[in-house]
Amino acid sequence: ENNKVLLKIEGLKVAYGGIQAVKGVSFEVREGELVSLIGANGAGKTTTLKAVTGIQPAAAGRIEYLGQEIRGRGAWNLVKQGLVMVPEGRGTFTRMTITENLQMGAYIRSDKEIASDMERIFTIFPRLKERRNQLAGTMSGGEQQMLAMGRALMTRPKLLLLDEPSMGLSPIMVDKIFEVVDDIHKQGVTVLLVEQNASRALQLANRGYVMESGEVTMSGEGMTLLNDPKVRAAYLGE
Ligand code: ATP
Repeated sequence: ENNKVLLKIEGLKVAYGGIQAVKGVSFEVREGELVSLIGANGAGKTTTLKAVTGIQPAAAGRIEYLGQEIRGRGAWNLVKQGLVMVPEGRGTFTRMTITENLQMGAYIRSDKEIASDMERIFTIFPRLKERRNQLAGTMSGGEQQMLAMGRALMTRPKLLLLDEPSMGLSPIMVDKIFEVVDDIHKQGVTVLLVEQNASRALQLANRGYVMESGEVTMSGEGMTLLNDPKVRAAYLGE
């Protein structure tokens, strides 16, 4: 792997009051990769993403994006630099239509390709096109997940952080979401994927990291981790 490092985390610590949620985590994501961060409930995966985007302040460590320390820079500035997160629970604008939500994603842009990007997103998610005038708040969980991903894509991200995109979705919708994550990656977007669905997340991943109780305990190529007996026993129910 000679691709340049987009995101480099070193010795990251995050606490909620007295609770140490992330205890010195280090990992990196290189340009063009899909990296999966897996682990049980409460392992600290979401907290790690929140620290990267500045939603939750880090207590210690370095967070470098494009070679620069970004701690304290604020989510908004990071979006402008191509670092975009799709949060757990999605966070769509429920009282706006699909089209309006997608337009919000392009809010930071002033180029002439917004309309063609929206068409591209409607090609990825035909369901959104069918319902483009429907209020986001009236859509199913899976549809809202698609919308949140579509809105993030409208920013033209370099690095997309996805927090549990499959959570709470029906099996068919889970298939669809993982298919789209794979497509987005293949179209050139670098992805950091946080998932409890370890099997699916590792199948798609170039590399993965396993988090346990706030620490990274294993790392390696996606397929290597997927076939690792310890990973299989702990996360794949074997
Ligand atoms: P999940 O998949 O369940 O979201 P996770 O690996 O993403 O799990 P986190 O959500 O990062 O885990 O949680 C890590 C630890 O931090 C947990 O013990 C959790 O209870 C705690 N925690 C998370 N958010 C808060 C908060 N706002 N206040 C206090 N403790 C929190």
